[in-house]
Amino acid sequence: MKPDQGVAIVGGGPAGLMAAEVLSGAGVPVDLYDAMPSVGRKFLLAGKGGLNLTHAEAFESFVSRFGERAGALRPLLERFGPQQVRDWAEGLGIGTFVGSSRRVFPTDMKAAPLLRAWLHRLRHPAPGGEPVHLHMRHRWLGFGADGGLRFHTPDGERTVHARAALLALGGASWPRLGSDGAWVPRLREAGLDVADLRAANCGFDVAGALARGVAEGWSAVFAERWAGQPFKTVAVAVGGPPTAPAGARPNAPPGALPDASPPDARRWHRGEFVATATGVEGSLVYALSAPLRECIAREGSATLWVDLLPDRSAERVLAEVAHPRGSRSLSSHLKGRLGLDGIKLALLNECLDREAMHDAARLAAAIKALPLRLIRPRPMAEAISTAGGVRLESLDEGLMARGRPGLFVAGEMLDWEAPTGGYLLTASLASGAWAGEAMRRWVRPG
Ligand SMILES: Cc1cc2nc3c(=O)[nH]c(=O)nc-3n(C[C@H](O)[C@H](O)[C@H](O)COP(=O)(O)OP(=O)(O)OC[C@H]3O[C@@H](n4cnc5c(N)ncnc54)[C@H](O)[C@@H]3O)c2cc1C
Repeated sequence: MKPDQGVAIVGGGPAGLMAAEVLSGAGVPVDLYDAMPSVGRKFLLAGKGGLNLTHAEAFESFVSRFGERAGALRPLLERFGPQQVRDWAEGLGIGTFVGSSRRVFPTDMKAAPLLRAWLHRLRHPAPGGEPVHLHMRHRWLGFGADGGLRFHTPDGERTVHARAALLALGGASWPRLGSDGAWVPRLREAGLDVADLRAANCGFDVAGALARGVAEGWSAVFAERWAGQPFKTVAVAVGGPPTAPAGARPNAPPGALPDASPPDARRWHRGEFVATATGVEGSLVYALSAPLRECIAREGSATLWVDLLPDRSAERVLAEVAHPRGSRSLSSHLKGRLGLDGIKLALLNECLDREAMHDAARLAAAIKALPLRLIRPRPMAEAISTAGGVRLESLDEGLMARGRPGLFVAGEMLDWEAPTGGYLLTASLASGAWAGEAMRRWVRPG
């Protein structure tokens, strides 16, 4: 490639491909490099879960999901936000629909047809466009002494010089799909300001129930029977670490910490989560993973409060639990009067001792607010996404590195995070489109 002509994009995920589309559509020659044998592997995996492309809530609410980065991402999302994502998919012949939770999916819930149509457009752009050249099995190794992009390829090492380069290397979740976070030390060495990567939208391990002889995680009985099973329609809230009574062992079972008080009603979120072999995961847990993770980092543990019966008031639950049960067992009493059985009942048995289970007031309180102590996030490799990355402050308004003219960054490798719900793909696409436009202006000023 002649340095004064084309641009190089490293990383063929949604961010890199979107930048390539913008540039190629504007007639700029693009060479796109990826370490894997094919592009879009994480995008295809996302398709296994239905491919939640974006979210149909009001724009203000959508932007607020990016937390402290909402202000910085707003212009990008105004330019290429939820509606533009849907229009773009439609333009590739892929219809979308709004699901019951206002999440937006392709009509066929699949990623492969969309990716196929997208790659076809990149290789065969409309008149005036330049086809994108894909170079697979090109692993970026860092910068050469002359600023070139060093790649490991099947034919040995190669250095590429381009007029402008975009890094869109993703975060560090699911590394076998290509994004492994190996770029962090390379970019720090090159002078970029990079925040440590951390698991986001991830599961957590629970503290053990010492009463049942387990130092960490669930008891073997609970894990064997219930790992993989969902807690359906519960509410959860995040609290700090419980304050153990004087003399209590620091990781006493969650139910044995009477002085921990549940958060107020405004902080409860309804939905579902899943028990794992060592803790919890699933949509409700992912939605709260940032505050849970930060609390653990700060305090050593965090409390996930669980309301097992969010549709019933505390008074009602107490009245039903306290109702005389005659010769009925406690489990048939709870099932008969409150519909409480299965994994919910198992969790109560896991967390409360026998005495608490037979004390109506304590049992009713636990049903409405059961504190689960979480001690660590699951490893980044298992997470849906990662937080941290290239700090936006080290980039200019076009996502170009302040200290390295011509080097742009986009996608999940930027320092923002968001819950699941289509926010991750939308922001990756939006930042790819934004960087693509800035690169076009950089290589073709005026
Ligand atoms: C299981 C799962 C399900 C998901 N479901 C959804 C969902 O439904 N909705 C949603 O919004 N988000 C979802 N996500 C998140 C979403 O897929 C990512 O946020 C998004 O793919 C990030 O896009 P990206 O282009 O920044 O990075 P990536 O998609 O990770 O792409 C980065 C690319 O860079 C390449 N690369 C990395 N390092 C190098 C290197 N050194 N040299 C060359 N190439 C390299 C990789 O091979 C890869 O192709 C899901 C994630 C997972 C793991």
